[in-house]
Amino acid sequence: MKITFLGTAAADQIPSPYCDCPRCTHARTHRGPDVRKRCCYLINDDLLVDIGPDLLVACSMHDVHLMNVKYTLVTHSHRDHYDAASLVVRKQGFPGREKPPQMDFVAPPSVMELLNQTGVSDSSLGIRRIPVLPFDSIDLPPYQVKALKATHYPTVGDAVTYLIDDGTSKVLIASDTAVYKDEVWPHLENLQLDQLIIECTVGTNTSFKAGQTRHLSIDGVEYMINKMKALNAITDQTAICATHFTHKHCPSHDEMSEILGKMGVRCAYDGLVLDTLNNRPGANTTEKMTSHPS
Ligand SMILES: [Zn+2]
Ligand SMILES: [Zn+2]
Ligand SMILES: [Zn+2]
Repeated sequence: MKITFLGTAAADQIPSPYCDCPRCTHARTHRGPDVRKRCCYLINDDLLVDIGPDLLVACSMHDVHLMNVKYTLVTHSHRDHYDAASLVVRKQGFPGREKPPQMDFVAPPSVMELLNQTGVSDSSLGIRRIPVLPFDSIDLPPYQVKALKATHYPTVGDAVTYLIDDGTSKVLIASDTAVYKDEVWPHLENLQLDQLIIECTVGTNTSFKAGQTRHLSIDGVEYMINKMKALNAITDQTAICATHFTHKHCPSHDEMSEILGKMGVRCAYDGLVLDTLNNRPGANTTEKMTSHPS
């Protein structure tokens, strides 16, 4: 499975245009992996996870097009993960095509409600809606997808995270979520994931408490990893990558890489491409960076 990180920031991106904190200033000065757009992931070339406000510019910057995307999965209704403009741009009327390529649009009910508000018909967007609730399994050939209940803002009651199996690899994208609730863990038993992508939104803000309801810090990430190891959801063959960083609590890419590296976790950056078949811990990776902002 190929995974392209089209963005690795939380809602306020890095640098935040409304901030002159040391981390945002550092990002403006050093650019490269310190500049982070809002999170989206492209799996192989046909499955998109989240469709946020930076999707279009990310595709330009990282040399990606979405013409082959058959499935889009949305995790929740926060604006950094679902932006109607990134979908409505598919409306028919592009040169040489009557309609955009057909796409299944998988999302919780709150996102479907936001989609209704655009007033644009599903047929002109070229989408078929598949509403999803926590613990639903969805057959999207060749993918088997399972929605796991996220622990996120209570106001976003139907937030999910996705477990994705393309027949060659199993990947869990655990974002946005704080530590999973008890009802989630049995679904992870013996999964032996190939890749875990886990949020580390509040980075070095180590006021972590297991009962927190919004996001993970580095110690929350460690807690999740230890729990998954105990359940055989991750093994010593599972590659782990952290993403969804906020400038408020996450230092530079190099510093985050060092902190996370001690936990066996890789710090993702915009444009990172992973091949899960060649990405085992300790292996020579075949990743390539499509392009960095200069
Ligand atoms: Zn987010
Ligand atoms: Zn800042
Ligand atoms: Zn969120």
